[in-house]
Amino acid sequence: MTSRERIMVCQKNLKTAMKEFIMANGADDCGVANIERFDNAPPEYHPKNLNERTKSVVVITMRVLRGSLRGLDQGTSRICYNSYSYGGLNERWLKNTLRNLAIWLEDRGYEATPVIQYVGKPPVEPMIDHRIAAVAAGLGEFGYSKVFLSKRFGPLQRIGVLLTDAEMEPDPIVVGEICDRCMQCVKECPGKAISSTETINIEIDGHKIEYGKLDVFKCALAHHGNIKETASYIPDDWDISDIMNKAKEKLREAKTQMDITVVEEWVFEEYYKRYKHPYDTLIWFLGQSCGYCGAKGCYRACLAHLEKAGRIDSPFHQPFRLPGQKPKDIPPKKTLEGGWRE
Ligand code: SF4
Ligand code: SF4
Repeated sequence: MTSRERIMVCQKNLKTAMKEFIMANGADDCGVANIERFDNAPPEYHPKNLNERTKSVVVITMRVLRGSLRGLDQGTSRICYNSYSYGGLNERWLKNTLRNLAIWLEDRGYEATPVIQYVGKPPVEPMIDHRIAAVAAGLGEFGYSKVFLSKRFGPLQRIGVLLTDAEMEPDPIVVGEICDRCMQCVKECPGKAISSTETINIEIDGHKIEYGKLDVFKCALAHHGNIKETASYIPDDWDISDIMNKAKEKLREAKTQMDITVVEEWVFEEYYKRYKHPYDTLIWFLGQSCGYCGAKGCYRACLAHLEKAGRIDSPFHQPFRLPGQKPKDIPPKKTLEGGWRE
């Protein structure tokens, strides 16, 4: 055996042992992309901005519990989803597993950089696109909705990324097997944020990928509960269009992540001055996140379709939505004080 062959055997063993460790540490899937797969990444999203010695990009996924979506789909509760499948998943469990993995790799002499995921524009703090990393690591594909889809969970997972100087064989990329362009995500999106006509085209390691253009601003409005469709307790005289128009202007001028954060803070301050509901406190503090829309289109409608169409390997005894079952919106609830505002 040549020394190169011996190295390849060691690397193979490292990858197998690493994957076993990841799976034993709470992940539902994991894959590896070599750094060359990011050759065509926009310079500001390149993994080497975070660690210039990166040879491999390790990607892990953790499932969004299907049961955590039930309260949303039956119109009763948002907290379980926000806590267990959104804020808690991103901020606790994914980070714990990534940290444990980093320690495991560094104990074996390989530098490891877990990546923080945030919304905004690089390059104030470098970032990489987690969905692209997951596709590059062979874990699944982009849906038309721009959400990452896997064969086992459909849209229901969140992604963690770690960069390392360990050289490992990349996993094969598999795309084009799950999303069938049914457009249910477009139809059920309460924010009307996914275009049915305009698309974005990218290429990952020679694989051409197309998804619908997402209006991030419209998505954020729906997602953060700033439209009646996603926060039905909003009073009839609710009107924050002036705040949102001003924010839109400010966001267009924003150059850095800090600018964006300042605009967000301003929006919340203005919003709280006018309207406050205990639900906001619950979502933010118990749920650790801000998912009011509960991904009605890009998660729930997509999942219902993929299960029904047999495009994913669902282990569930009952379908996500029974025949004829429609998602219900959460009805208005008055504050403890009996009114809408404090
Ligand atoms: S709902 Fe899912 S399967 Fe249908 S087009 Fe959207 S992403 Fe694709
Ligand atoms: S998170 Fe909600 S508003 Fe945003 S794209 Fe998905 S369904 Fe639409």
